[in-house]
Parts: sequence; C-alpha cells; structure tokens
Amino acid sequence: MELLDITEKALEKELCDHCLGRMFAQLGHGLTNDERGKALRVYYSMDKTDEKKVEVPESSDDCSVCGNIFEELDPFASLIVEEFEDLEFDTFLVGTRIDPEIEENEELLWTELNITTSEPIKSELNREIGKRVFDNIDAEVDLEKPEMKGILDTRFDAVEIEIAPVFIYGRYRKLSREIPQTRWTCKKCWGKGCDYCDGKGKLYETSVEEIIGEPLKEMAFGEDFTLHGMGREDIDAKMLGNGRPLVMEIKNPIIRDIDLEELKKEIEKDDRVEVDSLSFSNRDKIVEIKEATADKTYKVKVEHSKEVDRAKYKKALHSLKGTKISQRTPQRVSHRRSDKVRTRELKDINLERYDGKISELVMTCESGMYVKELVHGDDGRTEPNLADKLGVRCEVLELDVLKVHY
Ligand SMILES: [Zn+2]
Ligand SMILES: [Zn+2]
Repeated sequence: MELLDITEKALEKELCDHCLGRMFAQLGHGLTNDERGKALRVYYSMDKTDEKKVEVPESSDDCSVCGNIFEELDPFASLIVEEFEDLEFDTFLVGTRIDPEIEENEELLWTELNITTSEPIKSELNREIGKRVFDNIDAEVDLEKPEMKGILDTRFDAVEIEIAPVFIYGRYRKLSREIPQTRWTCKKCWGKGCDYCDGKGKLYETSVEEIIGEPLKEMAFGEDFTLHGMGREDIDAKMLGNGRPLVMEIKNPIIRDIDLEELKKEIEKDDRVEVDSLSFSNRDKIVEIKEATADKTYKVKVEHSKEVDRAKYKKALHSLKGTKISQRTPQRVSHRRSDKVRTRELKDINLERYDGKISELVMTCESGMYVKELVHGDDGRTEPNLADKLGVRCEVLELDVLKVHY
C-alpha cells in the first residue's frame, strides 16, 4: 500500500489525534503525535480538485485504540508528582503500565493497515506524562540511570516508586578478630531465629557491613544495605593499614545527599571499625573493585613446635621469597569451594620478630593466596610451605592484613 492509501485508511478509523499521529511517528520530527494527527486531518479535508474529496472524521472521542487515555495526561502527571513529593533526587524517569488490550488494539491496527512507521503507545504516554511531571518538579530526565522512577498503572491510578540505590565508596579497617566482613545469616533458619542461632537469625552479633550500614541506612532513611568488598579477610584477621576498598549500597534511600563526615563519625562510634576516603560512587565501581586483583601485605604471628636455628630460619624464608606457591583448595574451605590447584606468588617475606617459639612474619602475596596454608602447609596441599622448609610444625596464631595494594 502506498503511504497515502495507508493514511486514508487510518483516517477512516475511529482514532483520537494522538493515536492517528502516532501511526506515522517515525516519518517526521518536530511535531507531537497529537499535532501530527491534527495536521493529517486538516490536510486530507482540504479540497483537492483532481481527486475525490475524502470525508475526514474529527478526532474521535471514543478512540478504538486507546479509549482516549490521553485526555488524562494531566491528572496522571499529578499522581506522580504527588508521589515524588518529599523524595530527594536530581534525575527521574516516568514509566507506565497500561491495559494490555490497548496494546493489542494498536498491534491489530498496525497489521491491518500494514503500518511500519508507528511508535508504541507506551513510549508516547511515558514521554507526554514525563514532560508534564518535568514542568512541575525540580529535576532532570535521565533515560539511562535515573535516581527516581515513577511507574504509573493507568488502570488503577496507582504509582509505584523505584528509587535507585545510593553507592558510597570507601576503605575500611577492621580492628576486631571477632566479627566477619558481612552479615552471616543462620543457614538453619535463614534469619528467622532458631535454637541454633539463639533466636538471632545470624551467627555473629555484628559485622563490618552492619557497623557501616546501620548508621548509613538511618541517615538515608533507606530500607537495606549491602557491603561490596574488594575480597575479604578471615573473621579472626584484622584489616589494618590503609584499609580495604568497599562500596556500600543503600536500597531505597529517601535522602541521597548524605553528610559523609557525619557518617564517618557515626560509624566510628563503634571502635571495631574505621573508615576513610568516603565518596559518592556508582554501580560500576562495584564491578571495578570485584574484578581488581591486588597484592596484599600480611603480618602473621606463628607458633612453632620446636625452636629453629635463626640462620636456618632466614635461609628458609630466602628460599620461599619470590617463588610460586602451589595451593590445592584448603581443607577448611573445601566444603564450599571446588577442589583445584592454583598458583600464587609469594612476593616478599621477612622475619620481624622471633623468640625461639613465636615469630612474626610480614609477607606480601599475590591476590588470592591462602596465607594460613602457606604457613602450616595444609597436610602437603600447599607446596612449598614454611613448615616443611623449617622442618617443624607451624601454627598461625594471628593474621592481620597490613595493606591492600590498590
Ligand atoms: Zn487514541
Ligand atoms: Zn537460626
């Protein structure tokens, strides 16, 4: 069919100006669908001397596609503006849910008239309502990553709000050997509380995640939080030095403009955690720190089963320095990790203190090294290892992360 024929056929349908104009949305710029629909009617109702005159109906007040949903653009926008009140955001987007029958009507018409130049009704609704919302609030439209989304269900005049999380980057130090990095939900009751977890729903009283997340949640009037860390240390290891990078995610925050100085103060009221370098961030940063591989420097306190000659000790360390350590998945984590062998470089290792029984070592390892296993050998699963080199049993008493090289 020629375009003119298609247009004439479309004009014969019971359509409002929006639905008429929208069928040809891809053919021109600068006009709204509404204006394009009106223009088409005017053009076709003009007297054409050499052609038969087409009887052009007015814009229908009983539109066969949309049921004149566009008459309600202003009230729809008001519903969203109302819901946006009291929320803090700089960018937004409007979405809609509509009666599926309307979309069916539209698709049937496309098929019947062989229309390939239309835009879907929802995109016109979103845009037209969005413009009206924009005129009434102080925020910009962001089609990609809006901070706030208002989704209007046109059937029920109901608005659902979707608030983008706030992301805060920082580095934390963990000064306690008693708390894990993240919440440790009881696997027997999944947080409900049972005998096994003393009704707490979790296995540790608190965590770095909660110590940082709780005050943050309160300040943002958020719903929940998640700590995304660049790796993690063992529960009984301290995280010292310049700290470990993390991104905190706050879900459904009402307040986005959080005072980070104040937040630091609130967090550090708990003397088990310190934070630094707090700054606003985004979801991409999570991917970045999750994919990053950083060398780590550790301080390890080791107890030996027998005294080792100092010269022999130094020689052992020298022979380990710079070597590739082959590690089969440690027994202590084999229940949750697949059994395989991996190789990591021991970049540096030095004896800081040794009294014949207890030693303190500082070592720098490639990302992913199982440090405790490097010391005690894990029944030969890690090779080479310190215990074999010294010829005595080695037990790790304390392990601290001194530096994440990132
Ligand atoms: Zn319509
Ligand atoms: Zn439980």
